[in-house]
Order: sequence, then C-alpha cells, then structure tokens
Amino acid sequence: MIPAVMPTYSRVDIVFERGEGAHIWDTDGRRFLDFTAGIAVNALGHAHPYLVQKLTEQAGKLWHTSNLFRVAGQEQLAGRLTELTFADTMFFTNSGVEAWECAVKTVRKYHHDTGHPEKTRFIVVGGAFHGRSTTAIAAARSEKMTGGFGPLLDAFDQVPFENLNELRAAITPQTAGIIVEPILGEGGIRVASPDYLRALRQAADEFGLLLVFDEIQTGVGRTGKLFAHEWADVAPDVMCIAKGIGGGFPVGACLVSEKAAAGMVPGTHGSTFGGNPLAMAVANAVLDVVTAPGFLEKVAETGTRLEAALAALVARHPAVLADVRGKGLMLGLKCVKPNGDVVTALRRNGLLVVPAADNVIRILPPLTIGEPEIAEAVAIIDKTCQELAQ
Ligand SMILES: *Cc1c(COP(=O)(O)O)cnc(C)c1O
Repeated sequence: MIPAVMPTYSRVDIVFERGEGAHIWDTDGRRFLDFTAGIAVNALGHAHPYLVQKLTEQAGKLWHTSNLFRVAGQEQLAGRLTELTFADTMFFTNSGVEAWECAVKTVRKYHHDTGHPEKTRFIVVGGAFHGRSTTAIAAARSEKMTGGFGPLLDAFDQVPFENLNELRAAITPQTAGIIVEPILGEGGIRVASPDYLRALRQAADEFGLLLVFDEIQTGVGRTGKLFAHEWADVAPDVMCIAKGIGGGFPVGACLVSEKAAAGMVPGTHGSTFGGNPLAMAVANAVLDVVTAPGFLEKVAETGTRLEAALAALVARHPAVLADVRGKGLMLGLKCVKPNGDVVTALRRNGLLVVPAADNVIRILPPLTIGEPEIAEAVAIIDKTCQELAQ
C-alpha cells in the first residue's frame, strides 16, 4: 500500500521533536549534532530566540494578505537587500525553484522587450541543480531527475563546469543568459574560481547576455560573505536566493538589476503566498542577525578553522576521506568509501550531514556554531573514520 506521504524520498527512519542551536533531538530523546541545517536552511540553527520572538510577534498580528496589497515587510526586506547587493528590485517566492523560475522568465522577458525575441536559451553547467520543476529538471538534465518526466523544455545548453572555452563556444544568437551556482551544492561542493565567475561576466557583456547566479544554497552568509559571488568581486544581473534567508521558514527571492527587470511590469508574474507578512518577519529577522557587525567575519573564521580541522582528518584517514573543499561553512568531504555509508556511520555516532554528488558529504552547520560544536564534530568524524577504516 502506498504511504500517505508520497514516497518520492528514501527517508531516514528518524522523527525529530525539537532543536536548539546546532543540536536536534528525536522522539526517542536521542541528541544529534545537526550539520545538515535542513540543507543549508537553518542558518541560525534551531529555535533561535530572536527568530522565535519575531515570528511569534508577527503571528499575533497578521499572517497573510495576498499580493493584491502592499506588504510592509516586503518593502522593508527588498529595500535592505537592494542596499546590500547589485539588485534594484526583487520578487518574493516560497521556495528556491520558484525564485529560479522567476529568473528564467525575467531574462526571457528582458530580451523579448529589448528587441531580441530570438534570445530564449540558457547556458547551464554540468552538475548544476536548480530545483525540481519541469523547467529546472530540464536545465540540470540528470537522468535521476528527468527519467519519465519528458518531454523536457528544450531551452538549455549544458557545458562542463569551469570550462570557459566550451561555454563561449556554446553561445549562439539564441542564447539569452548564463545560469551558474558559484559553488555547486548538490553537485558536490565544487567551488567556481573567481577567475571563472569574472570570465562569465565578461562573456555575458560581450554577447549581450544576462548573467544569473543561483545562490539559493551559497547565499545569506553561508560562505562568509553575504553572497558567494562577492568573493570574486563580480555582480550578476539576476540572482536567486532561498534556503538561508528564511532560517527555516519557506521563503525565496529573485533579485534583479533595474536593467534586467525592464520587462517585469504589472501582470507578468505572481504568487499567492510569496512574501507574506509571516515570511517577511522571519526573513527580516534573519537579515538583522547575519548583517550585524562581525557576524560574517566570524562565519569566515569559523569556516577556515573547521576546514583546517577537516583537512587534518583527511590526512589521518586516507582510507575513508580523500579531500576537503568549499568556502566558509559550505564544506564538502570527498569520500573514498561510498558517501552513503559514511553519512550512515556518522549518524550512528550522532552527527548529521548531507550527501551530495561526486561521492561527497556536505558539512553545512548553522552559521552560529563555535569551538564546542567544531570539537564535537571532529571527534565524531575521527571516531567514525577509525571504525570505517577497519
Ligand atoms: C535547494 C536548491 C534549489 C531548489 O530550492 P527548493 O526550495 O528546493 O525549490 C535550487 N538551486 C540550488 C542551488 C539549491 O541548492
């Protein structure tokens, strides 16, 4: 008999009951160190007191009005994010893939309205992940996601990640934009070099394309900058965010420059729930914490320390771990043993991490961790590797 919850995931047989900071307890009272952060979503950990306060304050006042009316929290958050980024305007969504869909529509509409209706195609990279809508699976085009769901939208030309020659060779008069994650998340924590990101900007400018960064996983402080592309000192025309900005509340946004947003006039796009007052109260609160003086510097420092500690573990356990890579608190351990076995063994010892492609495990702790959490994680990984090496 089919489970009442559609079985599209092979879920771990654990139900969690409560969390506090980087720790989470299951219904049997067992405590885990949560370095999944809900897949880079719980940027401030579980039950952060300030987020709880802001959410409950808003919950007592107003939850939802629809986008037929102005929403004060949207105007506040958008104003702050335009101050902090390249963007001049943005559309609020409930998830990452909706922010990405808005990016695709925005880019096409820009070319349509500026005299290039033939520009409708996108260059994307192998190993990319942009979500699970029919359009987003057509972009990522992995058999696992697309099998049985065709016909796929024919609008995406895929080139190898970090290969500029092939990317430039794939540009045609129909190309509208380039869409890239600054660090491939699901693709196995593969970091785009600053030179590559700058060269994408150059190619986009040279051929009249719009550059889209998918920062749904890398954004909102995860890498130690507010957005990962800041490390390369290069700005996109369009950026999708989600995951971290809600700290666990479902919210996303598509951030756009004034130029690129030219076609997005009233009636062109919409969402019933997107940017409702409850979501905006939480997202504004997350931004309060992440932009507080010293917060991002501390994330970068903590990331450097954690990466160094993981590098030492890689050196100690060559039969289990091959490499550590990433930026800030978006780290990946490439495994020698099957990554699924490593994830399971770590969980048995009390540490939760996320598998990714390329036989990698993702280390995505809350941005608020400190020395005690690093020490606890390192001790668990060390012990688990000893067990696995036997
Ligand atoms: C998670 C993710 C998405 C999809 O977000 P959803 O909220 O699951 O729709 C898209 N792009 C990247 C890079 C992601 O990490």
